[in-house]
Amino acid sequence: MSGYSIECPCGVVFRSGDEESIVAEARQHAHEVHDLDLDDGQARAMVQPS
Ligand SMILES: [Zn+2]
Repeated sequence: MSGYSIECPCGVVFRSGDEESIVAEARQHAHEVHDLDLDDGQARAMVQPS
């Protein structure tokens, strides 16, 4: 199965088959939990194939 994952430095892991949605989820998480505004490129750089 192919998909994507992003692991936040706080330990939360996001998984999705869709890169767009995982990037959006990670950006929302960073904003809500860490008060951090990731831009699209920064969030994308954290995406790993899983
Ligand atoms: Zn986090």
